Amino acid sequence: MLENIVIIGAGQAAVQAIDTLRRKGFAGNLIIVGNEPWLPYQRPPLSKKYLAGALERERLLLRPQQFYEQYSVEVRSGRSVEEILRREQRIRLDDGSTLPYDALLLATGCRPRLLEVPGADLKGVHTLRTIADADRLRGGLSAGGRLVIVGGGYVGLEVAATARELGLMVTVLEMADRVMSRVTCPAVSVLYEAEHARHGVAIHCNIGVRALAAHGDGRVRGVVTEDGSEYPADMVLIGVGVMPAVELAAAAGLVCENGVVVDEYCRTSDPAIYAAGDCTNHPSLHYGRRLRLESVDNAFEQGTSAALNLLGMTTAHDKVPWFWSDQYDLKLVIVGIGQGYDSVVLRGDPAARAFSACYLRAGELIALDSINTPKDQMAARKLIPARVRPDPQRLAEADIALKDAV
Ligand SMILES: Cc1cc2nc3c(=O)[nH]c(=O)nc-3n(C[C@H](O)[C@H](O)[C@H](O)COP(=O)(O)OP(=O)(O)OC[C@H]3O[C@@H](n4cnc5c(N)ncnc54)[C@H](O)[C@@H]3O)c2cc1C
Repeated sequence: MLENIVIIGAGQAAVQAIDTLRRKGFAGNLIIVGNEPWLPYQRPPLSKKYLAGALERERLLLRPQQFYEQYSVEVRSGRSVEEILRREQRIRLDDGSTLPYDALLLATGCRPRLLEVPGADLKGVHTLRTIADADRLRGGLSAGGRLVIVGGGYVGLEVAATARELGLMVTVLEMADRVMSRVTCPAVSVLYEAEHARHGVAIHCNIGVRALAAHGDGRVRGVVTEDGSEYPADMVLIGVGVMPAVELAAAAGLVCENGVVVDEYCRTSDPAIYAAGDCTNHPSLHYGRRLRLESVDNAFEQGTSAALNLLGMTTAHDKVPWFWSDQYDLKLVIVGIGQGYDSVVLRGDPAARAFSACYLRAGELIALDSINTPKDQMAARKLIPARVRPDPQRLAEADIALKDAV
């Protein structure tokens, strides 16, 4: 019988786990320890509406204070867990206190990857993961200022769009030959590059950063690239990806490799410890390989599965993932994992700013990027798990419903 469940990390996965545990009848002690000073909140608006000043901080909270009271959940905010004492089944917090657990859930998320070049720690150089990061960044976003973003991934590009709307001059420096190359096909990258250019963002690809240059007072002055050019900046955002927060798990001797390694039931290599969300490296039954995902959907689904498995309701995490990104009025929804595709079929006309890119491998639809095509992404969420093999010619006809192309 479990009496004490402790969750480390107070984010999306943690809240979903609590909700499931209580709704499924867990009546024991439930404690969350999170090292940020807030109740668990949503991160997606940090690069969008919250950064733009169009959303109050309270509106970021995933659940109000009453939720935790009603569900008798003790939330220890602003406290970091420093050690997992596995033999004693206790965790040690940064105030020296310890908490016992019968089961532990690691939901520690990710941290921004740092740029290892001289000057990366200058004043005016930012990363974006937390409310505190967004507040610092927003404090410097004034119209006419020059913002250089290193990294053309979704966080960098969302901030670029927000900063343009706030009237800044924005430059994006990307090392690969196109933006969002890790997650989309060239046709989608081309559209986003054109859209940012149309809004006045200068995107430069195939460019590596050598250093960040400083004014005499230690504030950043510009970004120096490998070809020796300097891009002047009042502020710099480093958006070069994230690293799973595994230090605690690794120090406790849990198997970690590009994330905390879990099985399809969210179990780590210790039977009393589970993990969910961005920090995990988990098997995808659908794709037949291991994945580490950074998405709300994955944190939500794994948080649910981990809770059910903790309660002995054996549930394999076997969902086809999806992810969204909002830039200007473009709504990108990526369903599935496109890596390993052998052909892409476009539905609709990119020039019309509403189209889908369908990724096929040996005839099977393995992923779909939907840009302002909500019907396609809703259909794809059913069709991809069913391993459908569409007719490529019918698939290319945007007038034919996706399900009728199968
Ligand atoms: C700017 C931004 C925009 C995003 N936009 C989108 C989007 O549009 N769509 C989408 O699907 N996803 C988006 N994401 C990703 C999404 O927010 C994450 O995938 C999701 O938050 C993961 O949830 P999680 O619970 O795994 O981790 P997190 O939300 O990162 O929560 C983990 C928490 O654990 C804490 N923690 C870590 N170690 C310890 C410790 N030792 N002790 C105590 N606490 C600890 C961390 O500080 C953090 O508060 C975005 C992320 C960012 C940063």
